[in-house]
This record gives sequence, C-alpha cells and structure tokens, in this order.
Amino acid sequence: MDICEITPSHIRTISPYAPGKPISELERELGLKDIVKLASNENPLGTSPKALKAAQDALMDASRYPDGNGFELKAAISDRYGVQVESIVLGNGSNDLLELAARAFLEPGLSAVYSKHAFAVYALAVLAVGAQGIETEAKHWGHDLDLMLANVAKDTRVVFIANPNNPTGTLLSKAEIESFLKRLPSSVVVVLDEAYNEYLPEGMDTESVKWLSQFPNLIITRTFSKAYGLAGLRVGFALANPELADMMNRVRQPFNVNSIAQAASIAALTDTAFLEQSREVNFSGMEQIIEGLNRLGLEHIPSFGNFLTFHVGNAGEIYQKLLRLGVIVRPIAGYAMPEHLRVSIGLEHENEKFLKALERAIGA
Ligand SMILES: *Cc1c(COP(=O)(O)O)cnc(C)c1O
Repeated sequence: MDICEITPSHIRTISPYAPGKPISELERELGLKDIVKLASNENPLGTSPKALKAAQDALMDASRYPDGNGFELKAAISDRYGVQVESIVLGNGSNDLLELAARAFLEPGLSAVYSKHAFAVYALAVLAVGAQGIETEAKHWGHDLDLMLANVAKDTRVVFIANPNNPTGTLLSKAEIESFLKRLPSSVVVVLDEAYNEYLPEGMDTESVKWLSQFPNLIITRTFSKAYGLAGLRVGFALANPELADMMNRVRQPFNVNSIAQAASIAALTDTAFLEQSREVNFSGMEQIIEGLNRLGLEHIPSFGNFLTFHVGNAGEIYQKLLRLGVIVRPIAGYAMPEHLRVSIGLEHENEKFLKALERAIGA
C-alpha cells in the first residue's frame, strides 16, 4: 500500500514552503566563502546587543520550562501598544499565529480569502486545516480589497491581509483598510499581518492598533523576526479582541515561545536605538539598490518593507548565476512571479556585492 494514501487529500495537495537558501548549504554545495544572503528579509545589522545579553542570561535557566503565559513579555507588549494583556497572543514567530488563526476559526467546509502574490503561509495554514482557500486577483501587485470583499463567500470566516505585503512590498493605505473593515461582515475575522510595520516611513503607519476597539473581528500580527532582528529565536504576537485571543490561545502549544526568545524580545522592545538604526540602514540600502537597478535598466516594484522585488525576465537562470557568484536572493516563481526576484536590503557592502554580481549575471 502507498503510505501516502492514508494521508488526507487536503494534506497531500500542499506544496511545502520554500525558504531562502541557507548560507551553510551554499557553502557545502559550491565551496564558496564570503557568501552574501539577501533572501529572507533578515535584519542585516544582526540582533540588538541588549536582546543578545538578555538571551544569554536566560540560557542559564534553560532547564526550566518557559512561562507558558509569557507574563513579562505580554506586560511589555501591553505597555508598548496600550492594549490589555488579554488581547495578546504570543507565537513561535508570527507564522505560528497565522496557523493558530486558521486552526481556531476554520475547518473543512469553511473558506478563507487572500490575495494572489500574498505571503505563502496563508494558503498553507488554510489547507492544513482542510479549509478552502479563495485566492483573489491582485491589483498592481498588491491586494485588491474591493475584489477580496466581493470574494467573501457565505462560508468564509477569515481574510488574510499582508500590509506591507511580502514578496511585493505593496502597502494599503489607512483609508483603504478602514473602509474594508467597515464593509466586511463582523462574522469574518481579518488577520492583518504587519510583519514589516516597524519599517514604514514616518506618517505611513496605519495605526492599526487603534482599530481594535472598533472592529472586534480584527487580529493584528507582528513579529520580532524582521526589524527586531530575532528571526532565529521565533517570536511574534497577535493583538485582538480578548475573545478571539482566547480562542487562539486554546489551540496553541502550552509552551510555544521558549524562554530565551521571551527574554530577548522583551529587551528588543526597549532598544529603540537599535530599531532606529535598522530603519536608517534599510532606507539608505533601499535607495542604493533602487539606484543600482535603475542603472542596470531593471524595473522594480516600489516597496515598503526591507526587501525589493525586481523584474529580470529569466529569473531562475539569474538566481543560479547569482548563487555561483556567492549571492543568495529569493526566487518567487512560487508566488506566480516567475520573471521577478526578491532581494532583501543588506548592509552597504552586501548591496554593492549583490549589484555587481547582478550586473555580471545579466551580462549588462
Ligand atoms: C516574515 C513574514 C512573516 C513571519 O515571520 P515570522 O518569522 O514567522 O514571525 C509573516 N508575514 C509576512 C508577510 C512575512 O514576510
């Protein structure tokens, strides 16, 4: 018997998430040194020194289970965002929270709406619980909220919105989202994924946290993986109406956020200097890469994240050439963008190495 036959069909149809290639893997494969990885939207500055210190201290208590309720981390988040602790759900990365939302609010026979070119985990989370995914056509590479609203079916319980979106970097305005929330039936939960919120230019933040009191069906997700530089420790959090938060907390692992991650993220939240520096490095690096792409005559999609998606035509081939030149970027054919590549904004010399390698790869 084929062992796969005992697997439910909704599991068999899932295509696994394709992560950015790890540096160690490329080293093994090609024996290269000095590899630049600009493939997973990681913080090129590394981790806040304060967070590192807190993580090291927490290691001393590694024999103990973590605080399963994340008392101190929730208190810090509550302080920072002015929400009650009952509104907070902690996750093993915000990826965990996307899955918790799917598990708490979906089941076979129900559906979720998300956009084409949106973050791949939405479809994975929805399919994993046997629900149906309704993928909506995009508008200028971003979410078409009117169409998403029109696609909400009787059995739809969740809508996923990435703002800014990954991999396209597109941003919806405050007015667009607010209008969408007002028109959407309150029986449909909105997961507003703001993984790149900390990178938004001043004045562009939608101030979504203020919407929580107005829209009881809203869940906001944030992460410590990007601007806070803690991707390897896996911490994210959701802010929502306490009743929704309660449902999500029921289906999570009791100790889903480890003690080192909790300690590090508390410290990271207070290190505003590191966050500010991360934003500055991102703004100047973004400018540097845009300039370089313009010079090479390559078009890009304007981005509000810490990455940029650009058009190269034969993206698969260019990706391979870049690998051989020691630069890892992200192919996004899996996002129905076979002619684009996504590059994360790095440090100045990393961006420079990427642009030089790209110039060689395209033979410009
Ligand atoms: C990176 C990313 C996440 C998840 O990151 P975690 O490391 O799991 O917190 C969520 N949404 C988007 C759009 C992302 O790009």
